Amino acid sequence: MKFDTKVIRAGIEADPTTGAIVPPIYQTATYVLDEVGKMKGYDYTRSANPTRQVLENNLAALEGGKHGTCFSSGMAAVDSVLKMLSSGDHVVCSDDVYGGVSRLFNDLLINYGLEFTYVNSSNSDEVENAIQQNTKLIWIETPTNPLLKVTDLDAVGKIANQHNIMYGVDATFSTPALLRPLEFGADIVMHSTTKYLSGHNQIIGGAIVTNDKKINDQMEFVQKTIGAVPSPFDCWLTLSGIKTLSIRMERHCVNGIAVAEFLENHPKVKSVSYPGLKSHPGYSIAKKQMLGFSGMISMELEGGIPAGISLMNNVKLCSLAESLGSVETMITHPATMTHADVPKEDRMARGLTDGLVRLSVGIEDKDDIVEDLDQALNS
Ligand SMILES: *Cc1c(COP(=O)(O)O)cnc(C)c1O
Repeated sequence: MKFDTKVIRAGIEADPTTGAIVPPIYQTATYVLDEVGKMKGYDYTRSANPTRQVLENNLAALEGGKHGTCFSSGMAAVDSVLKMLSSGDHVVCSDDVYGGVSRLFNDLLINYGLEFTYVNSSNSDEVENAIQQNTKLIWIETPTNPLLKVTDLDAVGKIANQHNIMYGVDATFSTPALLRPLEFGADIVMHSTTKYLSGHNQIIGGAIVTNDKKINDQMEFVQKTIGAVPSPFDCWLTLSGIKTLSIRMERHCVNGIAVAEFLENHPKVKSVSYPGLKSHPGYSIAKKQMLGFSGMISMELEGGIPAGISLMNNVKLCSLAESLGSVETMITHPATMTHADVPKEDRMARGLTDGLVRLSVGIEDKDDIVEDLDQALNS
């Protein structure tokens, strides 16, 4: 089955009792047993739910993977992966990860004896050089949030394999429509389904896909033991969103390059980061491993911080909001919003300046998006 068919069909069958073409929302906490020890496949919704199961099977198929597990947020999904490690274990991590991920690692998991080293994973030598005796996980985000750094997944996959280290990729910015990390040797793909996968700013959710039965068993164990699972309704909305993933991503890519080129040529804009621009240091790797460049852009303005603030306060069509990957174009100030909890020195060290503006280009008409940005840049 081709990808564009999978988004609509994979793992989705007419409801066996009614023929409903859309899998029902099984809004139930528990399931009645036929007799002691004999159930119809489900016992309690924290462990499993039919609506969630359809979503998990669909997501696994989209990644070309065997197993999927869904969580109540992207953060819960990342945390579940880290729960496979033990005190004293070490993680090598991309330096420009989502702010919530670095908060989880540095402000919480560190208290449980885990150790983290952050590297610029665009340079795979840095990944290899950071490996220690006790390294148990390489955690890569590509492209990164918010600087859009691109990692060569194949190169890091070879390193992980050689050193026999578990390899996880947060591919939230790419989606399986544009990048499928399992094909490049990843053991684990993670998504914040809050973003492009659900695509409509309606839910918070996360997912893990793997081909490894042992990893999947562990993910299911964490689901039922911790209980950070999505509601059946959230799963249903996510499934609904995924049906248009292919055509939405096509439009996000078309609008993304159009807006990036407009910004790159705008006199008030100092620099633009978009993996689809030839000026982007990760352009050739992105072109090699991705089927499109997605809709995320970050930029610095000539007028620095005040100009960035003025832009964000003067947009009319674009929404000043956290989050990304939805149909609406959203503009964000990482230093005070998504990455506010990253200490200032760390932000500066990784190039996340106070003047940085992040744009999640939606699927409105690109001319309207450009017109709005132009008036806000000029006001
Ligand atoms: C949003 C995001 C997360 C966290 O996901 P939530 O659904 O908000 O918990 C993790 N990684 C990346 C790259 C994200 O953009």
